Amino acid sequence: MKLSFLSHLECSRCGATYPIDGPQTVCPKCGKPLFARYDLEGISRALTKGDLAGRGTSIWRYREFLPIAEEEHIVSLGEGFTPLIQAANLGEAIGLGDLWVKDESRMPTGTFKDRGLAVAVSKAQEFGITRIAIPSAGNAAAAMAAYGARAGLEAFVFMPQDAPRMNKLECFLRGAKVFLIKGLIGEAGKVVLQGREELGWFDMSTLKEPYRVEGKKTMGLELAEQFGWELPDVIIYPTGGGTGLIGMWKAFAELEELGWIPSPRPRMIAVQAEGCAPIVRAYREGRAEAEPWEAPATIAAGIRVPAAIGDFLSLQVIRESKGTAITVSDGEILEAMELLARHEGLMACPEGAATIAAARKLRKQGELGEAERVVAFNTGTGLKYPQLTQLPDLPILDPSGDVVAALL
Ligand SMILES: *Cc1c(COP(=O)(O)O)cnc(C)c1O
Ligand SMILES: [Zn+2]
Repeated sequence: MKLSFLSHLECSRCGATYPIDGPQTVCPKCGKPLFARYDLEGISRALTKGDLAGRGTSIWRYREFLPIAEEEHIVSLGEGFTPLIQAANLGEAIGLGDLWVKDESRMPTGTFKDRGLAVAVSKAQEFGITRIAIPSAGNAAAAMAAYGARAGLEAFVFMPQDAPRMNKLECFLRGAKVFLIKGLIGEAGKVVLQGREELGWFDMSTLKEPYRVEGKKTMGLELAEQFGWELPDVIIYPTGGGTGLIGMWKAFAELEELGWIPSPRPRMIAVQAEGCAPIVRAYREGRAEAEPWEAPATIAAGIRVPAAIGDFLSLQVIRESKGTAITVSDGEILEAMELLARHEGLMACPEGAATIAAARKLRKQGELGEAERVVAFNTGTGLKYPQLTQLPDLPILDPSGDVVAALL
C-alpha cells in the first residue's frame, strides 16, 4: 500500500517548484516558505472517507496526506485525534449556543506542537539527518526534544531566557542540548541560522522546514472528520507564527479539491495578545505583511512572536476566509482560563484561553452570532503554567480536632 502521495514542493509566494528527494528549507529564489503538494487524484482513487473509520486514532490515520514515504521512518508518540468537546456551559455563559473546544492539551507533550514535530522529525529521519536544531518560544522545543529523543537524534534547542520553566525542564529531561537566549524567538532563530554551516544541524524552524505545517494540517483534517465532513462556521486560533492557521487552511483546500467537504470554509479568526499583535495590526491596517512588534510582552509565551516568516500567509487566510483578527489582554486571558476551568473542567494554557476571551469579546461586539458553530482551539495544557494563577490560602484541617466545626 502506498503510504504517502507527496509529489513535490511549491513556493507559497513565487510558485517555483522543487523536488522532494532531499531536505529543503525555504524557497531559494524568494526566501519564502515551501508547501508540500500531493497527488490528490491518486489519493481520491486510493482512499475513501469510510476507509479512515477503522484506522488508529493518531495523525497517521491521514498518512496519504502526510509526507512520509516509509512506515519505518514514522516517529510517533500517539499524537493527534484530540477530543472535540462541546462546551455548552461555557457557551451559555458567553452567549454562544454551539461552542466547541478542540482540546490539544491531550497531546504527548501537552501541546499541538507535537503534530508538526512528529512529522518533521519523521521526515528528518527519512532523510538520514542526525542533528536537529530549533528556535522556540518553548513548546516547540519541548516537542522536538521528545521526538528527537525517541528517534535517537541529537537535538539542540534555543529558547528565550524567560521561557516557561516547564519548557526548559522538559527539554533537559529529554536529553536535548538546551540553550537560553538573551532575546526572543527571533534572536534564537538567528543563532540556529549562524550554527548551520559549522555545526551541520538541520534547521527545524516553523515554515523554514517544509513539513511541520503538514503535521499541523491534521488539525483541519480532524475537525472535518469529527464534524462528519462539515466544517464549523468559525475557527478561533491563538496565532504566533501562524502555522496552525495556515496548516488548517491548507487542509481545507486539499479536502475541497477532493470533494470531501462542501464550501464555504470557516471564517478563520486569529487571536493575539495586546502586548504582541503584529498580525492584528497588519490586518487592521490592510497590509499584506506585518511589521515586527517592538518590545513584545504577554503571559501567553507561545504567541509571543514579534515577527513571523509566514505573516503574509496568515493574513491571506484571515482575509480569504472573511475572518478577522483580534487582541485580548493578559487580564482577559486569565479570566478566560478561570471561565473554562469552572464551566467545563478544562485547564487551558493561556494561549488557548485567549481564544475563549476572543469568543466572548466577538460575541459582545456582534461579530459572532448566537447560533453559529464556533470552534475555539485550546492549543495546550494549563498544567505547564503553574506560575500563572495565584492560589489563595486554603483551609487546613486537623483530622484529630473538631473537623465539622471547622467546616461550618
Ligand atoms: C506555538 C503555540 C501557539 C502558536 O502557534 P502557531 O501555529 O505558530 O501560530 C499557540 N499556542 C501554544 C500553546 C503554542 O505553543
Ligand atoms: Zn519562491
